Amino acid sequence: MAKYIVYVDMDHTLCDYDEGFGRHQLKHPELKYPQSEPGLYISLKPLPNAIESFEWLMKHPALDVYILTAPSIQNPHCYSEKRIWVEEHLGMEAVRRLIISPNKGLNKGHYLIDDCAIGKGQENFEGELIQYGFGRFKDWKSVISFFKEKLAGE
Ligand SMILES: [Mg+2]
Repeated sequence: MAKYIVYVDMDHTLCDYDEGFGRHQLKHPELKYPQSEPGLYISLKPLPNAIESFEWLMKHPALDVYILTAPSIQNPHCYSEKRIWVEEHLGMEAVRRLIISPNKGLNKGHYLIDDCAIGKGQENFEGELIQYGFGRFKDWKSVISFFKEKLAGE
């Protein structure tokens, strides 16, 4: 059976970047770009239901799921911090599925779950964009309902 390839973004989709950024800014008020200081990406909290939802997608036999995240290129620590975050919150199976890429439009696949529609190649993604946090995809519960409905009709 051919599987649907699904990509899942990290910042503002799996991870609560806003909460972490605010916390990091308080810690480093003197910095213009507090995100360039090590420790932000590793400390992000998962968004509500993000972990269970990712695990549901990853275990589904009809889906081939990857994490697709763009790096903060000014911050070399973010590459390793993202990798550690994935292991800590989602485990080694998810680490094997972690793709860090500045251009999401190069990836082949069917679905991209991402809070941004443009900026890191999302606009050139060949599949369908599920814009997390907007419209019918306002939260993880509605994203999972979409896939349950979609896959039930197969
Ligand atoms: Mg994002």
